[in-house]
Amino acid sequence: MKKTIDKGNNLKLFIYIVLLIAMIASIIILNKINIEEISFGNSVVSIPSLSGVITVFMMLVSLIILNIDNKKGFAAVMIINGFQFINVSISVFVMNRMNAITGVPMMAGILGLLCMQHNHIKKTEQNEKRLHTLSATDPLTGLNNRRSVMAYVNGKIEAKEPFSLLFFDLDNFKNINDTMGHACGDAILCEAARRWTEISDENVYIGRIGGDEFAMIASGKSDEEINEFAGKCLRVLSEKICTEKCDYYAACSVGTARFPQDGTDCESLFRFADTAMYKAKNNGKNQICFFDSNMLSEIHNEMKLETEIRDALKYNRFYLVFQPQFEADTKHLRGFETLLRLKDKDGTPIPPSSFIPVAEKSGLILDVDRWVLRHAMQSFSEQTSGSSNFIVSVNVSARHITDCGFADELKGLLDETGFPAEMLEVEVTESCFISSIDEAISSLLKIKALGVKIALDDFGTGYASLSYLQRLPIDLLKIDKSFIDDMTERDDSGNFVEAIISIGHMFHCKVISEGVEQDSQLETLKKLKCDYIQGYIWGKPQERSNAIQLIKC
Ligand code: C2E
Ligand code: CA
Ligand code: CA
Repeated sequence: MKKTIDKGNNLKLFIYIVLLIAMIASIIILNKINIEEISFGNSVVSIPSLSGVITVFMMLVSLIILNIDNKKGFAAVMIINGFQFINVSISVFVMNRMNAITGVPMMAGILGLLCMQHNHIKKTEQNEKRLHTLSATDPLTGLNNRRSVMAYVNGKIEAKEPFSLLFFDLDNFKNINDTMGHACGDAILCEAARRWTEISDENVYIGRIGGDEFAMIASGKSDEEINEFAGKCLRVLSEKICTEKCDYYAACSVGTARFPQDGTDCESLFRFADTAMYKAKNNGKNQICFFDSNMLSEIHNEMKLETEIRDALKYNRFYLVFQPQFEADTKHLRGFETLLRLKDKDGTPIPPSSFIPVAEKSGLILDVDRWVLRHAMQSFSEQTSGSSNFIVSVNVSARHITDCGFADELKGLLDETGFPAEMLEVEVTESCFISSIDEAISSLLKIKALGVKIALDDFGTGYASLSYLQRLPIDLLKIDKSFIDDMTERDDSGNFVEAIISIGHMFHCKVISEGVEQDSQLETLKKLKCDYIQGYIWGKPQERSNAIQLIKC
């Protein structure tokens, strides 16, 4: 490109020189012929040579202007050339002065120069346009890039034109890249861009703002219309993507913030749309969320909790309590459920119902589970050597249970702590069967093969179905506290508890009721042949030393 520019400039210089020579030559020739003269005081100047000098002067001025400002220079050169043409024509054809014919090569030269200048301008404009397109477009998808999107949003804000900013983030895109490769990831991004462009009208400006994030700026649409449009975006994306590189069902989460209701500058609008998108992900992905100001404090709290959890893992700030479980008939100790506790920096307890969901969402639950398992086993490893026989039960998140490496991890922890596998029980909830019952069962079978017991927690609140209950290697069914709470007041709850106990026994499981607080509940459960009791009535969660005392009794 540099070479062509140099070539063009050299040619231009050459033409300038030829022109100059032609002009000087014309003056010399005209001076020599000297047909008409004009006197300035004592000096006598030939008219043609004077007109030649003026033309040369104007020509030089216009050439200078041409180099400074193409358009003005172009106009100036055209005017001079026009004069020159009339001048030459009158001289040659009307006055028969053949010497004026020297002006012709000059005009030809000027016209040539103009053509070159014109071509040069055209090329420069094309290059500028190409450069602009490159700097404004995302090379992968061909959509507007982040810079253009920002500029567009800022332009709208300056013009005070209301709009909605939709922030799209593909769900599980990292997994796609990790498991199916980057070529497949790229193909999905391109297909998403293509499908969304196809369904957008002229009031929607689309851009890819990085990785798997897209933005759309929709003008003149109500919230309902935005909701409908975003829904359509999700729908078209959910249709199977079949490319040379891969076959995939994609999904994405969308957050929306509106100008001027939600934010009045570009930075906050993007932050709020991102916040709403984060909320959409948290709510289960593949959905749209509109920003509202409460989200900020919610997310701020979650982030604070996430930091507390990370710090607790790093500085060993978690601690455990153990809630005893007893045989219903004899009140003999069966064992303990391990319950995790956390206090914030001021020493205020944070309930597990607050921090466990945050740990689950952030993925920190895997480390939390490992911490609890290791410390629960270590807490009682000394007591396992004697004749005492008790169970230590640990809650393990659904996500961890379905992880194919969990059984090996558990084996590693058993070896590390020397804790007997048959004295350990993992509590799983029905939510671990949602994504894939087969994967969950295969994982549970591996756990069972280690000799570890399995309890199904919060039974009756989730997705339990008799059809899969018989396939599960379960040792213990835990009846959720909510049924025990209602049991003595509501007939249907009482019947439900009775039914669960029978079902459990039918599938050769033991049954435990948790959250037992009242005598009446205890009596009923005993009558219904519930095997074990866990609840404040016989024992609250307590620290390790108290639990050890209970074992010794
Ligand atoms: P969960 O597994 O159903 O635990 C039983 C909860 O019921 C515990 O609350 C326990 O303190 C409470 N509870 C037991 N008996 C009674 C009673 O008679 N009355 C009343 N009012 N409550 C009773 P906690 O410790 O607050 O735990 C809440 C939930 O947090 C647990 O429900 C469990 O889902 C989760 N969680 C606690 N520790 C862990 C842990 O180490 N790992 C995981 N993944 N989750 C945990
Ligand atoms: Ca539990
Ligand atoms: Ca429970």
